[in-house]
Amino acid sequence: MSEKKIEKIVGVKGMNDMLPSDAPLWEILENTVQSVLKAYGFQQIRTPIVEPTGLFARGLGEVTDIVEKEMYSFQDSLNGDQLTLRPEGTAGVVRAAIEHNLVYDGPKRLWYVGPMFRHEKPQRGRYRQFHQFGVEALGFSGPDIDAEMILMCQRLWDDLGLQNIRLEINSIGDAEERNRHRAALIEYFEKHAEQLDEDAKRRLYSNPLRILDTKNPSMQELVNAAPKLMEYLGEESMTHFNGVQAILNANNVPFKINARLVRGMDYYNRTVFEWVTDELGAQGTVCGGGRYDSLFSTFGGKFTPACGFAMGIERLLELLKISADMPASAECDVYLVHQSDVAQLQAIIAAERMRDAGINAIVHCSTANGRGSFKSQMKKADSSGATYAVIIGEDELASGNLTVKALRAENPETNQISVSAETIVDYLIEQLTEAGDDCCDDPDHIHLH
Ligand code: ATP
Ligand code: MG
Repeated sequence: MSEKKIEKIVGVKGMNDMLPSDAPLWEILENTVQSVLKAYGFQQIRTPIVEPTGLFARGLGEVTDIVEKEMYSFQDSLNGDQLTLRPEGTAGVVRAAIEHNLVYDGPKRLWYVGPMFRHEKPQRGRYRQFHQFGVEALGFSGPDIDAEMILMCQRLWDDLGLQNIRLEINSIGDAEERNRHRAALIEYFEKHAEQLDEDAKRRLYSNPLRILDTKNPSMQELVNAAPKLMEYLGEESMTHFNGVQAILNANNVPFKINARLVRGMDYYNRTVFEWVTDELGAQGTVCGGGRYDSLFSTFGGKFTPACGFAMGIERLLELLKISADMPASAECDVYLVHQSDVAQLQAIIAAERMRDAGINAIVHCSTANGRGSFKSQMKKADSSGATYAVIIGEDELASGNLTVKALRAENPETNQISVSAETIVDYLIEQLTEAGDDCCDDPDHIHLH
């Protein structure tokens, strides 16, 4: 048979497949995040991946890295709409909150998870499709909710066993304070115009605050000596910032005030924060957030103070791989092995009964090579991660008893027992629950629910 060579199609550069071998880790991450969010009373929201381009241009600011050069924007060829794959989650959540009047009966604590898209140079920790968990607390004005966000992150790191993440906070004040600081900043940078790089020159009048965020080593000295926004904060902003710090101190959450922390979107005001680690190379920020009191008004909604953060799932997963002692959870509890069509039918019926009782079971299924020998099926049972193999062969069909083999026992050769078809589910539950009690305190470890 002559086979024509067909060219393979590969995925889009910078957009990754999340492979099943990593699934246990992201499941642990997702479950831990969800239980922490629940503990603080947050509700989930899902918004579309595609939004009108204008939402981000207006919300994030025209002169931000994201809007200037990182957005996947396109025209819908069917109706001419200008659309963008969301580069972040806040703008969409606020749009939805205005559209559905979500805060009409009081403030809301919301969270989301999903893919985000930015046309950046792909490298470690920086992808063109990446995933974020984020929370948005809408309608809250005090420092208490800002601090709550941070306490929630701290609890998440603790629950995940992550230790080397440190907190940096800053206050970037309100619009008027930033304007006065901005004028001083422009004056300062104008005086040192010869030291500015191209990016900084371009931003000098459009967004001078962002010059402070430069990663260019030759500009660090200049930027370090620039006028500090903190010195321009009025009394209300200072009180708010002190309020956040007081709650963090009372809860023993260590932090560093980083006067140069400004964040990449224009919508932020007052509190901004980032969680940073040294273990991921250059892309060390795992989570960033802050207050955005004017975004509702920017989108034409009623003034609604708000605060939120987003964390990068890929970076967190990498950190978990490096530094946390994560158990690889077993794929399933039971793998059912059989030697004829009749036996397979019994296996399928038994497996359904097991699942009714909360046991995770895989029934061996045939491939292009057929059913496979007993030996090869047992190999599959072993590599599935199952705790037990349940075997249905000729003898078992004749006697009505099934053979249960403990795959993870010290000596699996001798660990085999015959159990009647009627009692097998009870037997397995008893065994699996005992094994779960013995081996660990982690409820994720047993599959029985
Ligand atoms: P960075 O300074 O690393 O570019 P950022 O300030 O652009 O981050 P945010 O927009 O605040 O990031 O997004 C919050 C989090 O999302 C980041 O702290 C990071 O963990 C993650 N993140 C942002 N961009 C990417 C990306 N291109 N690939 C992977 N993760 C990302
Ligand atoms: Mg960025």
